[in-house]
Amino acid sequence: MAIIGNLFILSAPSGAGKSSLIKELLEQNNPRPLQVSVSHTTREPRPGEIDGVHYHFVSVKQFKQLIADGAFYEWAEVFGNYYGTSETAIDEQLQQGVDVFLDIDWQGAQQVRLKKPQVTTIFICPPSREELQQRLRNRGQDSEEIIAERMEKAESECSHYQEFDYIVINDDFDVAITDLNTIINNQRLKQSQQAEKHQELLTRLAGKGL
Ligand code: 5GP
Repeated sequence: MAIIGNLFILSAPSGAGKSSLIKELLEQNNPRPLQVSVSHTTREPRPGEIDGVHYHFVSVKQFKQLIADGAFYEWAEVFGNYYGTSETAIDEQLQQGVDVFLDIDWQGAQQVRLKKPQVTTIFICPPSREELQQRLRNRGQDSEEIIAERMEKAESECSHYQEFDYIVINDDFDVAITDLNTIINNQRLKQSQQAEKHQELLTRLAGKGL
């Protein structure tokens, strides 16, 4: 039987540095495939965002049709826009042994946890409120009004930290990457995963054919 990929959820308040961390993890030469699921959203693309790469950008009407078609693993309304994770795309990747990251909010995490209890959930925190505010400003993509709204939402997002398996503080970027790699490797080294990967060796070591 082939190895089934691991499913991870990464949640964080906007500006905690989640996107940069994910980008770095993907760029690192991973011995095993690691992919980030591309969500559907009804929000407008930000400068530099590419349809099909960062998100599948769809209209509210299209999104509601996808909900009706049962296309989503989970979906949620975040900051007045809809976001959703396509079920088939993820299941296909997991079946191929690819480890999949879902970059979704706590509402989505709750829904996925019910469907896939084996999911590993990670919450990324900024080192302080001040730093979070500064990072949101530095992005230069959102108005002051939106930033204030996102700070408020960050507080509500952070109030769900106890629902996650792991917490990574993104103060020093490299330390946060090491922490994330530790979590990923921890999953990959679990008995069930190793038993699939090293089936022949373990069978022989256990006395059959030694
Ligand atoms: P942004 O608009 O800044 O890209 O994302 C806003 C929030 O929506 C982030 O907290 C992000 O994790 C969340 N988000 C992105 N895609 C999904 C998704 O497919 N489902 C859910 N529930 N949240 C998502």
